[in-house]
Amino acid sequence: MARSTMDFGIDLGTTNSAIAVLDGTEARIVKNAFQHDTTPSAVYADRNGRIHVGERARERVESDPANAAAEFKLKMGLRDQATTFANSGLSMSPEELSAHVLRALKANVNRQLGEDIRAAVITVPAAFELNQTDATRRAAEAAGLGLSPLLQEPTAAALAYSFQRDEDNIYRLVFDLGGGTFDASIVHIRDGEFDIVNHRGDNFLGGKLIDWAIVEELLMPALLRQYSLPGFGRGEPTWAQAIAKLKAAAENAKIELSSADSALIDISDPPLCTDPRGNPVEFVHELFAADVDKLTEPFVARAINICQAALRESQLAPEKIDRVLLVGGPTLMPHLRRRLREGLGIELDVSQDPMTVVARGAAIFAGTQRLPAEPVRADVSYTVDLEYKPIGADPEPVVGGVVQGPADRNLEGFTVEFVNGQARPPWRSGQIILPAAGSFITTLRAEPGLRNTYEIVLEDPTGTRERIQPAELTYTLGVVAPAATLTHSIGVALAGNEVAWLLEKGTRIPARAREILRSTVRLTRGQSGGLLRIPILEGEHPRADRNRQVGALEILADQVARDIPKNSEIEVEIQIDASRLVTTKAYVPILDEEFEAFHDLTTETAADPVKLRRDLTAEQERYDALRADAERTSDPAALALLGELEDERALGQLENDVSSTEHGDADAAGTAGKRMLDLRAKLDAVEEALEWPSLVEWANRVLRDAPGIIDEYGDAQDRRRYEVLAADVRWALAGRDAAHLRTLVDELTGHLAMVVDRKTGAVVMAHFSQLVEQRPELRDQALAARLIAEGRRAVDSNDIERLRTVNRQLFDLLPSEGTPERQEGSSVRRSL
Ligand code: ADP
Ligand code: MG
Repeated sequence: MARSTMDFGIDLGTTNSAIAVLDGTEARIVKNAFQHDTTPSAVYADRNGRIHVGERARERVESDPANAAAEFKLKMGLRDQATTFANSGLSMSPEELSAHVLRALKANVNRQLGEDIRAAVITVPAAFELNQTDATRRAAEAAGLGLSPLLQEPTAAALAYSFQRDEDNIYRLVFDLGGGTFDASIVHIRDGEFDIVNHRGDNFLGGKLIDWAIVEELLMPALLRQYSLPGFGRGEPTWAQAIAKLKAAAENAKIELSSADSALIDISDPPLCTDPRGNPVEFVHELFAADVDKLTEPFVARAINICQAALRESQLAPEKIDRVLLVGGPTLMPHLRRRLREGLGIELDVSQDPMTVVARGAAIFAGTQRLPAEPVRADVSYTVDLEYKPIGADPEPVVGGVVQGPADRNLEGFTVEFVNGQARPPWRSGQIILPAAGSFITTLRAEPGLRNTYEIVLEDPTGTRERIQPAELTYTLGVVAPAATLTHSIGVALAGNEVAWLLEKGTRIPARAREILRSTVRLTRGQSGGLLRIPILEGEHPRADRNRQVGALEILADQVARDIPKNSEIEVEIQIDASRLVTTKAYVPILDEEFEAFHDLTTETAADPVKLRRDLTAEQERYDALRADAERTSDPAALALLGELEDERALGQLENDVSSTEHGDADAAGTAGKRMLDLRAKLDAVEEALEWPSLVEWANRVLRDAPGIIDEYGDAQDRRRYEVLAADVRWALAGRDAAHLRTLVDELTGHLAMVVDRKTGAVVMAHFSQLVEQRPELRDQALAARLIAEGRRAVDSNDIERLRTVNRQLFDLLPSEGTPERQEGSSVRRSL
């Protein structure tokens, strides 16, 4: 019997991958050729260019690193990241490597179940950015999985934990610590559906960081105490193989320590490497759980901080969370579980195997995905087009359909009946009499705990049974997955390092949004190299450069029919589909033209070690200054934020990553780039916390002076606007959001200045003199001369309005560069 639903789910992991199938109401893992549940996401290319995936390839990563690749998921969607395999000369992008892993999983299904699958649900970390999701889809296509809905890993995990349970109105925290990524997601289960309420993640936090810490802080020092190995370190080509062996040994020992107090590392036969004089280097070292626990601590602290930030952001106290669902290999560590329980104060759910729970959840979701109809068999004359959900919380689901017969066949008087033979006694819907057009709608009754299969019985008006395709449908009672939501906001970068968020985090997808911007530069038609560039950002931070740029919308000078003057409206549209494929468009009203924008979702790596070092030095100085300030003022909010950074050893970790990057380790570069962004955002928050008292003082001063200014210079309309703004400022004072308060006080002072200016005109005149001074820079000298003369006449006649217009025109003649500026409704930025 052909499948009517997708049923297969794949966890395409950084370290390990797995495939599961939904069998009745149970999701089962399909094992690999070694009878293992998971397959290492590693690829090895032999001399003949043959590709090997899994255990053997994983071993090669240490013994033969020039011909093997692993952990490529972290590089998905990045440009120029091809791995070259020395012996075969093959070169493969991260997507191609992932496609090989997917093919290997498909082959397991073929071997174990004899099925050749073309469709499967594939999971991606919720922290994956658009370029990474897009790359995953391409990998699936290349592997022959043309139909591959993407599902977020926490959603999959929560599904596996909740699928056949009867629970209502509870919150769960999915704690997923894998080999290289961390995700904390808050899930709300209600009325049989569940929703990701909030998510926070870090694409550069996982078990392999523990492995590296063991290598760098325990194994290497022990090794170098015994042997003299000049230049021994990460990223040094001479020692690459020895380092890789140490890392593998560290990982195995770490896994052993989940169920023992000590583990012996023995790399003596064959030896680790040879020293410069050619003598074998044998390394034997006993590792203790207590030492590894200590090294694990900063990573656990970071993960806990991320969870707490997610809870705070959703305004959920830990008592509101029913349980923590554990996902990922490192959650098997007893120390981590202990710290998690204490640190979060929430009970842990350890009922599922954390290594396979994501694949099993993906299979459950795959059970909700209907496959396209099979081609109609030659011996069948009737087909039915069904409308229903294969899995749902309703025990009496609605099914609609339209029966079609041979051409022109009138179906009046035919009957359809659904029969569930698994129910005791068998359940029958009763015969439904069809109208001429063959359409019907009915409800079924489902038994819990099994995949209900309903035979579809079609009879003609004489009671003769006819063959129909499909001949059955299945329905399972269970919790269903929610529609996908955005895990990061998507927007465009504006002038002044600002952002316009078009689609906010948490928006259900597919979704579409538009925003009208104003260009801050003129685009001259045909001008060589001229372009209008609108960077597309993904993130949450109000400062544009604190977010990730995932692409750019560009309008080129040779694309446009006419010039686009400065200050022209540009309507930007961003659209995202259910699998997170993004398209952007720009509409320029003055040209009445639409630009299907160029955008390239592959991002460049931030691998420039010189820049990383410079940035790190700057952040270190900022950190020291802020620390001193916080101590001087004993500001509790600032001290708490700094405390978090210290628990995570953020600067120390970053120092390690930057120095590895300097030694040529491209992988560490990705980590360093991400950590740098995080560190900056946190220091920004500290800065804002410290600034808060002076900001409050300033806000109160403005609030105190404002009524007098309005009384003296303003009219009734000015007063109304003032009242609105003052109320906003008071509200922001209560909210403790420094950036928001600053914006609102700026707006209020702007309003007051405008009221005063209008009356006095002094500022307008001062601005005019300033523009006259800038005369040599103005673009059109003839026009400038005319405007300046007109301005002088306006000054003489004290015509402030006319002078203001002149100023604006002169201002437009100033050369300027930059990205567009948001056109604001109620609070127009003053440009005079
Ligand atoms: P991913 O989702 O990245 O593929 P996994 O969930 O498969 O990751 O976890 C892989 C990580 O789990 C590796 O870093 C591995 O060393 C670690 N790991 C696996 N088993 C254990 C264990 N028993 N104790 C500690 N860590 C483990
Ligand atoms: Mg995983």
